[in-house]
Amino acid sequence: MKLAVSSCLLGNEIRYNGGHKRDRFITDTLSKYAVYVPFCPEDPAFGTPREAIRLVETKDKGLQIETVKSGQNRHDALLKECDSECERIAREPLCGIIFQAKSPSCGFGSAKTYLENGYSSGKTDGVFVTTCKERFGNLPMEEEARLNDPWLRENFIMQIFAYSDMQDLAATIEKFAQLVDFHTRYKYLLLAKDEAAYRELGRIVANSEGLSLEQSVKRYKELFFQTIAVKSKISKTVNVLEHMAGFFKKQLTPEEKGELHTLIEDYKHKIIPLITVIATVKLLAKKHNVTYLLDQKFLDPYPKELALRSHVGSGK
Ligand code: SF4
Repeated sequence: MKLAVSSCLLGNEIRYNGGHKRDRFITDTLSKYAVYVPFCPEDPAFGTPREAIRLVETKDKGLQIETVKSGQNRHDALLKECDSECERIAREPLCGIIFQAKSPSCGFGSAKTYLENGYSSGKTDGVFVTTCKERFGNLPMEEEARLNDPWLRENFIMQIFAYSDMQDLAATIEKFAQLVDFHTRYKYLLLAKDEAAYRELGRIVANSEGLSLEQSVKRYKELFFQTIAVKSKISKTVNVLEHMAGFFKKQLTPEEKGELHTLIEDYKHKIIPLITVIATVKLLAKKHNVTYLLDQKFLDPYPKELALRSHVGSGK
């Protein structure tokens, strides 16, 4: 899986002051599962070190990139490098982009804007983020600071692995049965995101309009990418867990059913993390040989070593 990452987050010393912003989760943990494609629009545009830049709301041209101390307009020079960096990373089969927060180029909704008198006026996307959003559409994107939130991190990691899975299927698919199988395995993960979208995806798979495999995959892929971008909610996850518990209603004693229900309630009230309930469901599914559940991506959306569901804060 390939991810484009702000080069300074990888420890490269290319910030305006010659420093870096190494992010340990990216360099030490996520790197075990992803190959990085570094980018930096500012270094090729202005060199390193360079005068700091910022986004200024100008009267005649709208938001413009200007140097902080000397007030020189650098907008077109940066835009040119943004286009060229974007084209370069687009040649790779990317499954996501991670930006450095607060930068006027890379801030993902966190780039500060200023009035011409120097007062701060709000926050927006950095110039490179805007270019990437226009170019990459549904590609998963996040900034490193937001990934410190366990809930956002879990959602993003789940999204990039699902994105990669879908891309792999689209590249190799030969028959409709593979799309049916994919949709079946993603049932509970999709239900935890958006039930209406899950049902619509089911209609695409059923193919009552008689579309070709290529057309169906194209439609499925588009809606799938939109659906996995939806952030999960505890209420929807609880709903999915209750559905899964329903698979054991004949095998479990009333006491065991009560225990399982209590676990789900404890997760709902943030007393225990999601992984505790998931581990129990998997144990029961193995014991009672419920392969349909064991095959569900919802139970194993990414390598377990990432341990992202081990924190009560990973649910909201
Ligand atoms: S432009 Fe982006 S990648 Fe380059 S130093 Fe600034 S934040 Fe890092």
